[in-house]
Amino acid sequence: MKNIVKKYGDGFPAVNDVSINVADGEFVILVGPSGCGKSTLLRMIVGLEDITDGEMIIGGKVVNDLAPRERNLAMVFQNYALYPHLSVYENIAFPLRLANVDDKTVDQKVREASKTLELDEHLERKPGNLSGGQRQRVAMGRAIVRDADAFLFDEPLSNLDAKLRGQMRSEIARLQKKLGITTVYVTHDQTEAMTLGDRVAVLKRGLLQQLATPRQLYTNPANLFVAGFIGSPPMNFLPATVEGTTVQLPFGSVEIPAAKAEAAAGKGLLIAGIRPEAFEDASVADQSGGGSTFRATVDVVEWLGNEAYAYIPFEAPPEVRKQLEELERDLDGETLRTQLVVGLSGATRIAAGDDAEIWVDTSQMHLFDPSTGENLT
Ligand code: ATP
Repeated sequence: MKNIVKKYGDGFPAVNDVSINVADGEFVILVGPSGCGKSTLLRMIVGLEDITDGEMIIGGKVVNDLAPRERNLAMVFQNYALYPHLSVYENIAFPLRLANVDDKTVDQKVREASKTLELDEHLERKPGNLSGGQRQRVAMGRAIVRDADAFLFDEPLSNLDAKLRGQMRSEIARLQKKLGITTVYVTHDQTEAMTLGDRVAVLKRGLLQQLATPRQLYTNPANLFVAGFIGSPPMNFLPATVEGTTVQLPFGSVEIPAAKAEAAAGKGLLIAGIRPEAFEDASVADQSGGGSTFRATVDVVEWLGNEAYAYIPFEAPPEVRKQLEELERDLDGETLRTQLVVGLSGATRIAAGDDAEIWVDTSQMHLFDPSTGENLT
């Protein structure tokens, strides 16, 4: 995808100058909240949507003007688009029948694909008698027999319950690696994006925010949006001012590594981003690697056995509030967080109402410019 633009009418572009290079055999996820343009982008890859500007290149060839059937891609839809009156065998064979392939080749390809997908015992059954996972595999089988150059998935798991979604997620990951086929996958679910993708493209309002491995997105988010979108429970955002290597937070001050302090020097009021898991009860924390401690009055503690979460309310000044409110809107309307969420190990004895000493691994702290959202660290 080279500088791809999509405009519907003369409104705000649904996809705005997006460039993504998907390598051969790579699994790339397009993720973002509703309306960010991810489905439009996928539909432009397949050829179901005209491209307003830019170049779509597949295997070195510009395909902007090619019809979907000339692109040799296989789309796996949300509802699997299986024919209920046809057997599993005929559902998988369908694209070959359309292409008038001879019976012998059809049989060979269907048997090969169904073996790979472990469907060989179900070939005579109808889709209505299959589990969700098996149906998903039939849909993939149909894509495999065509020897497509790439698989494209549009939210294939969004109709499934949480348990099946988890199973299917690992199934898709396993099959994609086994087949080694280039895959682009659309989802609004950050967990799906993080667990499936070799690389993840995060989109917001038609703009590519960051294209990186799940680990890079998590540890080094490019901006406030990516930081808030990736990770569960979400990252804390706090008003912060930096002086030397000291960061003033609503509850007190902490020391940060010199390199971070330098990047944030002279910038005035900033937004500090700290994930809940970067904190610990100071009395049980391993502090040998550095970090910093502060004291705060804990409002509520949720103890879950192996871990706990402590909640500490704070007030954000208007300059920071405005940016955070905008962020909440972009993230699809979560309530504005005005409390710090501190992750603790299950060994903690901190209880509600305590003036607790809390340790934070400040090497994991990010500092964001409140006007642009850019990660300065
Ligand atoms: P969702 O997860 O809700 O499907 P998405 O991220 O896939 O969202 P798109 O469906 O690509 O987003 O839509 C991107 C933007 O383009 C949205 O603002 C949407 O309203 C607009 N849009 C999509 N299709 C059309 C269309 N056919 N005509 C006009 N506007 C459209």
